[in-house]
Amino acid sequence: MAPTNKFSYSNFTDELRTRLSVLDVVGRVVPLTKKGQNYWGCCPFHNEKTPSFSVNEEKGFYHCFGCGEHGDIISFTMKHNNMDFKSAITELASQAGLKMPDYKPRDPHIVKREEALFDICEKAAQTYTEKLFTPDGAVALAYARKRGFTDEDIKKYRLGYAPKNNIIANKYAESRYLTESGLCRRGDYGLYDFFRDKLMFPIFNANGKVVAFSGRSLDGSEPKYINTSDTDVFHKRKTVFGLNFAREGIHRANRSIIVEGQIDAIKMQLNGFPETVAPLGTALTEDHIALLCKSNRNITFCFDGDGAGQKAAARACELVMQFLRDTSDVKFAFVNGGKDPDEILTKSGTDAMRKIIDDAIPLTEFLWDLANKNFITSTPGGRAQAEKFLDTNIEKIIDTELKKHYKQEYDKRKFQHWQSWKRVKKTIDVKLPDIDDITKNTLVYIVNTFPELAERYLEFLGTLGVDFDGTVTDLNLDFDAAEKYIVSLKLQRYLEKLNTRKKELTDKLLSGDESVREEIAETDTEIKKYTEKLKLLITL
Ligand SMILES: [Zn+2]
Repeated sequence: MAPTNKFSYSNFTDELRTRLSVLDVVGRVVPLTKKGQNYWGCCPFHNEKTPSFSVNEEKGFYHCFGCGEHGDIISFTMKHNNMDFKSAITELASQAGLKMPDYKPRDPHIVKREEALFDICEKAAQTYTEKLFTPDGAVALAYARKRGFTDEDIKKYRLGYAPKNNIIANKYAESRYLTESGLCRRGDYGLYDFFRDKLMFPIFNANGKVVAFSGRSLDGSEPKYINTSDTDVFHKRKTVFGLNFAREGIHRANRSIIVEGQIDAIKMQLNGFPETVAPLGTALTEDHIALLCKSNRNITFCFDGDGAGQKAAARACELVMQFLRDTSDVKFAFVNGGKDPDEILTKSGTDAMRKIIDDAIPLTEFLWDLANKNFITSTPGGRAQAEKFLDTNIEKIIDTELKKHYKQEYDKRKFQHWQSWKRVKKTIDVKLPDIDDITKNTLVYIVNTFPELAERYLEFLGTLGVDFDGTVTDLNLDFDAAEKYIVSLKLQRYLEKLNTRKKELTDKLLSGDESVREEIAETDTEIKKYTEKLKLLITL
């Protein structure tokens, strides 16, 4: 029985327990609702109609008060799937995205290799740090200082310089682990250094050991950053940059902040946000979020305000849904104007950055905005798509009670925002000035180029009093852009109407007619709502 001995897996089962929450594992098969400290559901091990099966996420256990079943993620998986120990941890490993380890006791050769890898990484870090303060490292040092790193910061994060020559390959020629550590590669003429002429940032594991590096180019060459490829001691998907420094900060602040870049993470940590981390490379993964959620489910994502940042935020939102609990506080902050947190901190200071973080949009709001931005909710088709998008995301929430409340929240919003559109539009009858020539030309172009759009927006276009038989100027607008143009014009016209109406009502109020107060307030709410809608549409 030696090969399936539980003891030989003990490291691995610990890792599974760290990476998988009992709520995630049980919640996949048992609908759960939070009551008090615990989650409750109907016991999968005995027949019942009233829930007496409880799950305690913090302790990692489930317990049934009906039949006495009790255990953790492993016993649950064994019992529920009628599996043996090894199959259960194989199943859990796949849920956690982990590779099954060898089932033999830890091979001393592997242990030795890991130690050798730690050792060579540590030596390389020392070599790079020394080099930074030599004439060779002058450009790198100047760059680091220009980016606002003091000597103390450089020491703390162990910044270094990888020179142009093959310093690691030469200096540690006797080491057998140069290629395995990712520090060197083998070419036609022997080993050469992977990092050359780079400002070096060591990447630490949870225990603070150097396991890899991130090198920033200094001569403007792309990519700006290169990272060590995965090794036996470094797995990109499982590593969050800066987490070793941020743990205490996350605990104190009771949240983590995720920024896009590694320098941003360090600068945030140094300037009042010690709870900040960054993914390695560009893409945030489910594993990164899972890792952070183990210590805290309050996350503020901070992205650049540009198109790429918006896309990354949308992705993060979709990834985080499954990790939501009723106590989670997940938000999205955006740094606008083509800047990043580093630049904000350097040019405008901590307070400016704090304002950006404080202004972060709650997830509920952000998801709603996404649905309204990605789909044209003024059309039935668009609303159907938006609704499907919302449903797919809400479906990922594990806690059934929380899921229910998300559904209710969005049902309310759908009714208020999507339906009132028509309702209010018809009740306001205000004459607006004619549209200008540029708009007119654009519309003539659109109507003649995309008859489908003309049909779709027939009613609205008809209210504009434009003669669509005019000369067509070639405008080079594609279909989507054309539709967006019409919709935003529709919104603008509607807003103009609302504003004119508000002015009329205010005049009435000033002449003593108190009865219009309520309508003024309603109109104001409408103006705010549609201004926001228009803003979203334009930034799309
Ligand atoms: Zn039971």
